Amino acid sequence: MAIIGIDLGTTNSLVSVWKDGKSVLVPNEYGEYLTPSIVSVDGDTVYVGKVAKERMVSCPQNSARQFKRNMGTSRKYRLGEKNFLPEELSALVLKKLKVDAERFLGEPVEEAVISVPAYFNDNQRWTTKRAGEMAGLKVERLINEPSAAALLSKQETKEKDGNLLMFDFGGGTLDVSVVECFQNVVNVLSIRGDNQLGGCDFDELIARNVCQKLSLSFLELSEKDRSRLLFQSEQLKWKLTDNEEATMEMFIFENRYSVSMDRRELVNISTPIFKKIDQIVKGALVDASMDLAELSQIILVGGSSKMPVIRHYVRYLLGEIPIMQQNPDEIVGLGVGCYAGIKERKEELKEMVLMDICPFSLGVNTYNRHCPQEDLMSVIIPRNTSLPTSQKERYHTVCDNQKYMDFGIYQGENLHAEENEKIGNLKIDVLSKPKGMESAEVSFAYDINGLLLVKAFVPSTNKSFELVIAGRHCSGNDKARIKELDSLKPDTEKPENRLLIERARRMYEEFSGKEKEKIWELIQLFEDLLTSNRLANKQMAYARLKGYLDNLEAYSETVLENTFNPDWYVDRDQVWQHGEKQNSPQWGFR
Ligand code: ADP
Ligand code: MG
Repeated sequence: MAIIGIDLGTTNSLVSVWKDGKSVLVPNEYGEYLTPSIVSVDGDTVYVGKVAKERMVSCPQNSARQFKRNMGTSRKYRLGEKNFLPEELSALVLKKLKVDAERFLGEPVEEAVISVPAYFNDNQRWTTKRAGEMAGLKVERLINEPSAAALLSKQETKEKDGNLLMFDFGGGTLDVSVVECFQNVVNVLSIRGDNQLGGCDFDELIARNVCQKLSLSFLELSEKDRSRLLFQSEQLKWKLTDNEEATMEMFIFENRYSVSMDRRELVNISTPIFKKIDQIVKGALVDASMDLAELSQIILVGGSSKMPVIRHYVRYLLGEIPIMQQNPDEIVGLGVGCYAGIKERKEELKEMVLMDICPFSLGVNTYNRHCPQEDLMSVIIPRNTSLPTSQKERYHTVCDNQKYMDFGIYQGENLHAEENEKIGNLKIDVLSKPKGMESAEVSFAYDINGLLLVKAFVPSTNKSFELVIAGRHCSGNDKARIKELDSLKPDTEKPENRLLIERARRMYEEFSGKEKEKIWELIQLFEDLLTSNRLANKQMAYARLKGYLDNLEAYSETVLENTFNPDWYVDRDQVWQHGEKQNSPQWGFR
């Protein structure tokens, strides 16, 4: 049975399979590869993807997005009458992708490999696996997103060895990693990132800037107005990818406004984002002990990497290193497909080895002589260690006649253990002796599946103690919840009809006067005819509604004339096709 690869993104998700010697993306019901990671609920009907994205604007109280940012937390999302945890919403997205893959393959799918940001901690990884289980998928392997991208690059450039810098800028996260590809080995050397920095930060900066221009307060907008403004801001950002200057039309407090912005202004309002990018890129190079001159390729990954201002900034930071030519939003999705192929032990990939690293430090708490209430973090496996790894440290008692040693197991980079994430506890018996005279040897073995084996050996008693962290499975409670999630049924309407209705509902709220009335009239007509069995009538009503909405949107979108200036910007297509540009622009970003 096929194993599918899933890029479960903050903004968009993709599913892929290894087929006919290569990784291929699975199209959704609209024939598209990107499915928005958005869930919307209406009674017992659940919508995932494009329709949910429309409903995010027209019924924000029943819809949720960006829940991946809260994976591993107990934050509850209220959608209408029902409450969901982030992993439950993710499970609904995974379920939909599973259905898409089954339709594409014509066979049931039971196993998946899912990619996660390199920065995900153990708990976030575990909840991702749990989401898979809730969606009816066995998830033995998670793969770090940069590793997936590197695998794809290695597959594409079969013969080439070299060091890659992966710059993955998605909707809600930035991950930068340095990867060494040598013969058949893909070795991740370092990973730096920020899981609270992404394309949606541009959307919010644009939205706030627009509010400032209109003397409105962003925070005082109603939930609905804010959703709509963010939706429009994202559209403006997209237009600025293709145009030097763009205009956005929007409706706030029932009023219609028009605001323009150019790329220069976008750069100015986004200075905080660029500063953070600067630190992350440099940090990744420092962690990998690598000079710019040693890099052979840059791989731009993620939808936000399409932005010319981002491509310029990467050029400004890294100079003229060639850029890989692939659609940035599809790289991770395709890479996970390669990994699914490796997991299936496909002949063509037999020789391929993926070496990953531990993206966080693992250690135990130790006594702090200077401040006894604040335990220190004693690192046993440092961040960026190649996996699998096994390392040990010896610890001594700190009190006279101490009867046991109690080790908290932590992950994270803070000097103080309590500031890091506690992932387990191991209490061991020792002989009662004067302080410092009794000791235990603690060893950590950590593998690519995120399985941590903790062992403590006490030489004086010759006794060993063990603890395995990870590999947690669904509990009875989970099973009840899975049943509840199963009771939510996907929409039975044809996808294109549902999408048209939801789009019309969103636009109905945006327009006023004659246009509003007309949309209402055409929605009624279309909905009435949907239940009729006269196909010709249905098609006519569909065409009329769609035609009207298309015209209305085209009419209200006044994109200003493209004032492209070749001295300042690299043409996007040129960068994609040739991978190199002659003159690096000297922008004063810092
Ligand atoms: P994630 O990995 O978070 O799911 P993606 O890699 O799909 O995200 O990237 C989504 C982000 O990319 C969104 O913020 C979206 O607005 C942005 N994006 C997608 N296409 C473009 C474009 N043409 N121009 C600018 N930003 C884009
Ligand atoms: Mg992504």
